Amino acid sequence: MNQDVYKLLEVQKFDKQISDLEKSIENLHTKIDKIAEVMLQRKTIIEKMQSELKEIEEDRSDKKELLNDAVERLKKLDIKINEATSEKQLKAINTEIEIAKTNEITLKEKIESLDEQIDVKFKETSSKQEKYEQLEKAKNDYENKYLKEKKDIDDKIKIINKEKTKLFESIDHTLLAKYNKINRWAKGTAIVPVKSGACCGCFMKVTPQTLVMMEETEEVVYCPNCGRILIKEKDEEP
Ligand SMILES: [Zn+2]
Repeated sequence: MNQDVYKLLEVQKFDKQISDLEKSIENLHTKIDKIAEVMLQRKTIIEKMQSELKEIEEDRSDKKELLNDAVERLKKLDIKINEATSEKQLKAINTEIEIAKTNEITLKEKIESLDEQIDVKFKETSSKQEKYEQLEKAKNDYENKYLKEKKDIDDKIKIINKEKTKLFESIDHTLLAKYNKINRWAKGTAIVPVKSGACCGCFMKVTPQTLVMMEETEEVVYCPNCGRILIKEKDEEP
């Protein structure tokens, strides 16, 4: 095997460590994003419930005003009936009183029913709001954890990178550049062994010519499918 590839395997060990560290912090971020998504959905539901509650409360307040009017009307009619001077007038006032009383009863019933609705809606909204606040707290906790861990991981990666760069000097620059280019997407798996005739990066069978090149030359061999650098299985642990 090409000697520089041996050295690159050492570089790859550092790149694998970096990739693992990056993955662990990414997972934490994904968790935060998921909570934020759920929170957004719940917020929409809560806002809808609050607006429904407001509507019922406004309806109640309108009905309450109408009830007050009806009560006032009845008071006035009570005075009026005492001042009635003819039977015809008395009959007319009595009819008015009956209408106002029916009105009063209907309004009282409606207000009672609206009070019940308000009570139920308020409890539902409060319970949803409480759960939302719990989520918010969990999100904040995760965010703090993320910030702390991100800093730790960034520091660790800096140290690993320093160690890694020390190896660069003795490696052919063109090959190193190619390796770095592959590692940008392969993340610690830029060099992989061939097992049972397949590339361990993309798991596709490699061509017979590729196998021959690996066996018989010192050339750096690339997977014809994914472009990773290929090594023999036995060379995996130098
Ligand atoms: Zn491949």
